[in-house]
Amino acid sequence: MTKVTKVCKECGLEKELSEFYPLPKGKQGVHPKCNICMRLYAAKKRAERTAEQKAEQAAYQKDYYIWNREAIAKRKADDWKREQASKRKA
Ligand SMILES: [Zn+2]
Repeated sequence: MTKVTKVCKECGLEKELSEFYPLPKGKQGVHPKCNICMRLYAAKKRAERTAEQKAEQAAYQKDYYIWNREAIAKRKADDWKREQASKRKA
């Protein structure tokens, strides 16, 4: 059985299709860049983010917290209960 491979557009290495994130619209149904390059790219983008973008995301996260406060509180309470239960066992 021949393995289907693809050359990463970023690092130029030939890799198996499983090394690429799926992208239905892309060639061969995967991204042109391999997983590693995609991750590096995302990290670079994150580092390059402007203060404005960071503030935007912080605001979004605050909204998320406000809208999901009950769900978050419940999850925290559940986590705490689970932690206490596991402590008791130990
Ligand atoms: Zn690559």
